[in-house]
Amino acid sequence: MTISDRPLTAMIGLPDGPPDCAAYGRAGGWQAVRRTLRDMTPDAVIDMVTASKLRGRGGAGFGTGQKWSFVPKDPAATRRKYLIANADEMEPGTFKDRMLLEGNPLQLIEGMIIAGYAIQAGHGVIFLRGEYHLALERLNRAIAEARQVGWLGENILGSGFGFEIHVHASGGRYICGEETALLTALEGRRAQPRSKPPFPQVGGLWGAPSVVNNVETLCNLPHIVTNGAEWFVSLGLGPDSGTKLYGVSGRVRRPGAWELPMGTPLREIVEDHAGGMRDGYRLRALLPGGASTAFLDVGQIDIPMDYGAVEKAGSRLGTGLAILLDDRTCPVGMLHNLEHFFAQESCGWCTPCRDGLPWVERLLNAIENGTGEPEDLDRLHDHARMLGPMGRTFCAHAPGAMAPLASGLKLFREDFDAHIRQRACPLRHAA
Ligand code: NAD
Repeated sequence: MTISDRPLTAMIGLPDGPPDCAAYGRAGGWQAVRRTLRDMTPDAVIDMVTASKLRGRGGAGFGTGQKWSFVPKDPAATRRKYLIANADEMEPGTFKDRMLLEGNPLQLIEGMIIAGYAIQAGHGVIFLRGEYHLALERLNRAIAEARQVGWLGENILGSGFGFEIHVHASGGRYICGEETALLTALEGRRAQPRSKPPFPQVGGLWGAPSVVNNVETLCNLPHIVTNGAEWFVSLGLGPDSGTKLYGVSGRVRRPGAWELPMGTPLREIVEDHAGGMRDGYRLRALLPGGASTAFLDVGQIDIPMDYGAVEKAGSRLGTGLAILLDDRTCPVGMLHNLEHFFAQESCGWCTPCRDGLPWVERLLNAIENGTGEPEDLDRLHDHARMLGPMGRTFCAHAPGAMAPLASGLKLFREDFDAHIRQRACPLRHAA
């Protein structure tokens, strides 16, 4: 692929749709997989990705090379290993992987072959969000073509390495995107998270070593192998390397997603790329990286969108797609909407999450509808305190749900008080 300042999306949005194998090759595709299989050992690929400082783009930002390095290195022939592309993109406000899946499925396939080779997995699975119908059609077409021309199957390029990719369309629950619930779902069982350790890299799909990587993470691999780790590091504006698909939803002029250097300032994303707020709306606060990140105040808009800076500001980069709150939308109503989603999507496996989230939803509903009591605020704080920290539930679902709540209780304290005092939503009242 030619060196570009937006490598991930360079081939996306072409008038004729996603490139086929030949067009992809003409634009520089397949170079990386050729280089990987002909010139590199699996360990050399892991070392290169580690040196590139690529961090997982699903939300948590774990080092990709480091994650791969945990996979046991016993001979591939004696033990099955799996590579799973997590394409179950269900975080509210997040639609970046969809662009990559629909726009250039071959880029993901090339990335998966490279990752599969690095960890010596013979099988790859794309776990796809159930509603991504167009992506499903395009992925299946791309996989069939790649198999036909020899990019998938046995003994690719005569290297002795074989790799197959299967697509699994999800049953449609948010929890299926949690990596261990995803594995359980793939095994044909109810999608409940498993407690970690063991991490999937050691005991994953059917107990075999498995790596679960996000779609955007995998799509970066062909570019890293082709252009080198140093090039990838140089793309970032701050401590994090590469580019990132950032996005904005809310009452802006041009909601959308854009590939920008890692560490692009939040203000630039909102004001330049999303075109700023629509007339008559003022930005009040935002969730920087999806529904399970903490609110940032509008005064924090000058932070760079990298992992460390957003964490220092009190939230997380998450998926990098921000949800904006404007001055004409009730924050209590917004929180109620979010917590309704989280309560509905709890898998029910652990008690604090199964019972706590619907309770939070009921309390917010009461406050928003004018029947809340001052003690309800204490109860909400108690939930945020008890469910917020990791380690009290099997997975990050409840802690993720508490991130907007805990920050919202602080940031919108006056709104909560006004609802309780006036026994109504002041914004709805004024409308
Ligand atoms: P996590 O930090 O537990 O794990 C992230 C990854 O790192 C996992 O693959 C895990 O196996 C690995 N890992 C972490 N610690 C490890 C260790 N000690 N040893 C080996 N491997 C280790 O986070 P998570 O629960 O997988 O994901 C939470 C994130 O998911 C949140 O940040 C949220 O923003 C994001 N999320 C994304 C979506 C989406 O649609 N993209 C949806 C919901 C949540």
